[in-house]
Amino acid sequence: MALDRAEPVKAPNVYDAEPIPEAARAEIDRLMATGDLFRYTAPADAPVALLERDFAALMGTKYALAVSSCSAAIYLSLRALDLETGTRVLIPAFTFAAVPSAVVHANCQPVLVEVGENYRIDMADFEAKLDDTIGAVIISHMRGHTSDMDAIMALCNARGVPVIEDAAHSLGTLWHGKKIGTIGRIGCFSFQSYKMVNAGEGGILITDDADLVARAVIMSGAYEHNWKKHGTDPELDAAFARWQNELPLYNMRMQNLSAVVIRPQLGDVLTRRINDGLAKHDYVADLLNGSPWLHVPPPLAPETRAPDSIQFNLVGFDSDDEAKAFADAAATRGVKVQVFGLSADNARAFWNWRFIPGERQELPQTRAMLMRACDVRLPPRLTTDELDFIVDALVSAAEDIKGETRAYGT
Ligand SMILES: *Cc1c(COP(=O)(O)O)cnc(C)c1O
Repeated sequence: MALDRAEPVKAPNVYDAEPIPEAARAEIDRLMATGDLFRYTAPADAPVALLERDFAALMGTKYALAVSSCSAAIYLSLRALDLETGTRVLIPAFTFAAVPSAVVHANCQPVLVEVGENYRIDMADFEAKLDDTIGAVIISHMRGHTSDMDAIMALCNARGVPVIEDAAHSLGTLWHGKKIGTIGRIGCFSFQSYKMVNAGEGGILITDDADLVARAVIMSGAYEHNWKKHGTDPELDAAFARWQNELPLYNMRMQNLSAVVIRPQLGDVLTRRINDGLAKHDYVADLLNGSPWLHVPPPLAPETRAPDSIQFNLVGFDSDDEAKAFADAAATRGVKVQVFGLSADNARAFWNWRFIPGERQELPQTRAMLMRACDVRLPPRLTTDELDFIVDALVSAAEDIKGETRAYGT
């Protein structure tokens, strides 16, 4: 797999974003000219309101609420569920620190569930921990990997426990053909720059539940009667009337500039990113799986993925030092690999979530996975040459450490 080219391909910069579609410009100029940045100034059809309408239509849900981040969406979801202080909320032990943080922010207690070598929730541990003390469940589709949503929904529905889907990094993923984020009571998405749609920052929550969305809308900062700009449906109006003046206002609104940057990314642009992301991920996955030292776990059968990064496990790396040496060798070859559990202060390593109150929770299975699981960004815009460069660097780095003998001819 050594590169043999007249003009060597440079290591791609996987952190650069794609340009914002040209179509955003006219609206940005209009906002610049008018200064109309606050979502509730216009009497109707403000860009944020139009984004909510577009996003709900895209996802096939009744309601959407755009906010300042996915973390804000998760926080507001927990508050909308009206959980008592101290409620125990089940979350996967492999997620981003923002998730346990949102739980703590909502005065609830995160309870961590084991995650397997395939980055998906360990269903035996989930079932064991889903006892009468659990008031809500957040399913983080971490890096877009979908856990067994059939089993999760059956167990949670049987107990009447609400499920919030953290689909921050899963826009476009399907489960039995159904859009991820529409399976639980509420779905939350991120528009932070490293996600499928880039507004720098931003988030949105979707639900079919009028009462939940009304509560979330008010708490997001729809003070006085600004909720009237969230559509007119009798069920929603009744819910707003019920909650008027009953809830605190946390001011987690989205501003119009973010919405005009997001809207032109939702149509063909998103479809192209989803399709290319999956094709390019699978191209790289097949090649990495050709190495005896690297393993990309397959998706679950009902899952159609929409990845913009790739995760794989180091196989036969007996020590953490060997795993670190692999990451160093890949870096030398121009590709930055993060071994989740081995980079300092990684926000996805549960032992770094020391802000969680109470006794430290130990998750040996998740810890073992994090010590060998690698993360490489793979934005859908990469060319085949750039993908080949990444594959070559990773496969060669593994051979640097583990020797070439088994890499060929097996
Ligand atoms: C990015 C991310 C978040 C946080 O999203 P923000 O919009 O940055 O708050 C939460 N969960 C997961 C799984 C993420 O990938």
